[in-house]
Amino acid sequence: MVNKERAGAGSAEEPTDQLALRRTNLTRTLRHIRTNGPRSRAAIAAATGLHKATVSSLVDELLARRLVREIGAEYSGGAGRPGRGIALSPEVGAVGIEINVDYLAVHGSDLTGRTVIEKRISFDAMHRDVERCLDDLTEAARRSLAELVRRGVTPVGLTVAVPGLVDVARGVVVLAPNLGWRDVPVAARLAHGLAPGLWIGVDNDANLAALAEYTWGVAAGTDDLVYLTGEVGVGGGVIVNGRLLRGADGFSGEVGHLPVEPGGDPCGCGRVGCWETKVGLAELVRRATPDAAYGLEDGPIPDPQERIAEISRRLAADDRAVADAVAEVGRWLGHGGAILVNLFNPRVIVLGGYFAELADHLIPSAQANLARLAVASTAARCHFVASHLGFTAAARGGAGVVVERMIEDPTAVSLTAPPRLAGVR
Ligand SMILES: [Zn+2]
Repeated sequence: MVNKERAGAGSAEEPTDQLALRRTNLTRTLRHIRTNGPRSRAAIAAATGLHKATVSSLVDELLARRLVREIGAEYSGGAGRPGRGIALSPEVGAVGIEINVDYLAVHGSDLTGRTVIEKRISFDAMHRDVERCLDDLTEAARRSLAELVRRGVTPVGLTVAVPGLVDVARGVVVLAPNLGWRDVPVAARLAHGLAPGLWIGVDNDANLAALAEYTWGVAAGTDDLVYLTGEVGVGGGVIVNGRLLRGADGFSGEVGHLPVEPGGDPCGCGRVGCWETKVGLAELVRRATPDAAYGLEDGPIPDPQERIAEISRRLAADDRAVADAVAEVGRWLGHGGAILVNLFNPRVIVLGGYFAELADHLIPSAQANLARLAVASTAARCHFVASHLGFTAAARGGAGVVVERMIEDPTAVSLTAPPRLAGVR
């Protein structure tokens, strides 16, 4: 959303505060429709307190920008004179792509929140250098954007979710230990390979997943929530009082590197005894299925789904050693969970990634250890729950961030249609 073209918002002589006011009212109109569903112009005016002529003008601009559409049915919205309903448009949307050690996950959705693309692509960051990874990421982005277009949705932007520290303002991955990345200008690199004008953002995967959970997940609307992503690395996204906690530099949520065991095993970050050395997927695989541990293969590394499926099969067959290994990881999950509860007092800890898939086996020992270690007795009121969003939670959150930006400033969406994807094959 780089394009600052404006239309219907008045001439260049119009005072800036008038433009700001109009932008605010466009946003207000979009939010009202998103929250309440299709509404007539009269109903929007009655509910927002805006003048009817103003609402008509705002709706005209949103129609021109293809952010809303008129639906055939007359709809009163419970207030005002019945008229044609104004609904969010399914013609405009966004893409989120998560890059991880052993997969790419893609989510594409339109402004109404409808899922248009949901897929997972096997990937191997361990055996590729940064340039090759970025080439593959760019190609996956290009294909996904093109697929969205083929399905009748014009993407206005893309967010890349990365497991590491991200300078969101500059779109730079400062450090992603498990990818082996340091100071990688992901947004600039993708912008070079994609169509000009497309808004490209980069953010931490767990932060994006936490936003997705807060908006669409099993604990949606829970104002104090921690999301944990269980992959080879372990990340956290913390929602406090309904807002994502980013910290002074935007680097909060690196819970995988909480030091939990002095003198413990080496971690990808260069330290020892980090939480992810106890609960990361590599540690679970090492404990539960040592014959298939990470680092043993010469060829392409197996998709994590295959590793989890194998562990699930052994659990179903009552393999005692595997059950003990999973319970031990669960205890460590509760250990770190207690630290988070002591710090943030969340109501819910949502488990994503492989944690969600093995939740039935992890949660009992995790919950017991959390109750034992957390200092406040109300810790018992904080529960581990498994995410229902599956492997695309972070990607879904990434698409959601683009949509949120679009709603925050509808005047940044180009009126000319659909120009920004000319370079996409
Ligand atoms: Zn570490």
